[in-house]
Amino acid sequence: MKIKVQMSMVLNLDKCIGCHTCSIPCKNVWTTRKGAEYMWFNNVETKPGIGYPREWENQSKHKGGWVMDGGELRLKGGGRLQKVARVFHNPDLPVIDDYYEPWDYDYASLITAPHKNHQPSIRPKSQVTGEPMQIKWGPNWDDDLAGVCETGARDVNFSGLDHAIYLSFKQVFMFYLPRLCEHCLNPACVASCPSGAMYKRDEDGIVLVDQERCRGWRYCVSGCPYKKVYFNWKTHRSEKCIFCYPRLEAGLTTLCAHSCVGRIRYVGVVLYDADRIHEAASAKTDKEVYPAHLDLFLDPSDPETIAAAANQGIPEHVMAAARRSPIYTLAKTWQLALPLHPEFRTLPMVWYIPPLSPVEALAGNEDIRTAVDNLRIPVKYLANLLTAGDEEPVRLALKRLAAVRAYMRSVRVEKKPDDTIAASVGLDSATLLKMYDLLAIAKLEDRFVVPTATHLENNPLHTIKGCAGFPDYR
Ligand code: SF4
Ligand code: SF4
Repeated sequence: MKIKVQMSMVLNLDKCIGCHTCSIPCKNVWTTRKGAEYMWFNNVETKPGIGYPREWENQSKHKGGWVMDGGELRLKGGGRLQKVARVFHNPDLPVIDDYYEPWDYDYASLITAPHKNHQPSIRPKSQVTGEPMQIKWGPNWDDDLAGVCETGARDVNFSGLDHAIYLSFKQVFMFYLPRLCEHCLNPACVASCPSGAMYKRDEDGIVLVDQERCRGWRYCVSGCPYKKVYFNWKTHRSEKCIFCYPRLEAGLTTLCAHSCVGRIRYVGVVLYDADRIHEAASAKTDKEVYPAHLDLFLDPSDPETIAAAANQGIPEHVMAAARRSPIYTLAKTWQLALPLHPEFRTLPMVWYIPPLSPVEALAGNEDIRTAVDNLRIPVKYLANLLTAGDEEPVRLALKRLAAVRAYMRSVRVEKKPDDTIAASVGLDSATLLKMYDLLAIAKLEDRFVVPTATHLENNPLHTIKGCAGFPDYR
């Protein structure tokens, strides 16, 4: 057993309000340079929709990630030979129009415009060419279902569903999907890189691009099925989300998580067995990848894991953080969080709690076990997004979320705690209360459990207050 530490995130889609606040500090801090205008390390998409870049989920078009081919795990975009053959033209790369041509406005001419009868207006200017341009697509083009009547049919998550029904006026549903690099355990971007510039940090699993070694081949861009590596047209190097590692090293959470208005994000570490990654990624069927992935996570309170971790030199403060990790609790213990498109077989480490919808359906006396199938968002759609089409894990997570609401209603509104609710979803009432605490009212130090790069005693940046072993960063 080879124990590794992975920095991970869980996003509770039940609470995302689609405000895009998370994208702004990320953009302002990491991608304001020339050549990076079109890059959004963090972006927020509306589902149903085809997202940014267009149709990133459609691997028949983009050929990202891994596939099982004759019992072997292979890059969908092909191996070394295919790469050499495509060195001057890689047909799998998204083009700038799939993202959008970045633009700006000449705001000065608005401010300095002389007095006129009509309000002054300004035209968009391309940030690439500097010429006036017509805007035809953007990173939030299908935000809040805009134009989804035209693009929705291309949303691959409608597989097995009649999209026409769910996009019709009375049946339509929507929710938000914030996205960032998944810092995968089996990253296709790293495996696709011919120059060895892409790597996974040993200490916390963050996936980075060595700017000195990158030769601009862009196979990482086509290899990543989440399309979260971007090519800087000015520096001719690839760039991607760095999981705000300079902040993490100091015990702070990422910018997107810290700024999240809906408080939907959780950040922490997970211990996993690196010896079994290939086995998990090579699960026989797509539906078996999620359980195999979950099985890689190691219980940080298990004496055998603790002893092996000590042997392998994992610091005690990292183990303490793993024991308090909200990620382990949400993904493994409670099985509320699920991976995004596990069928890409990269073993992504940004997981999602599926959204309930609408709330009213659960406020009545309907049995929770059947109510989730009557929710507005079809379980099948969520399953296509989160569990390679397997509806049972999604149903379990939704039932548990619904049970928390129903139980809290019995406590707060009816003033008669109903213990039968927990039993109906295989839990006890104390667990439902803990779920309520973490999902609804958790404080910063419960949502973000980030061990510093060095032990706190050696780290002059932080003082230990209240929460032993963790920095007080409030
Ligand atoms: S999501 Fe991130 S780590 Fe995973 S393949 Fe894409 S760029 Fe690499
Ligand atoms: S800041 Fe939070 S609530 Fe707002 S869009 Fe981003 S993830 Fe959603």
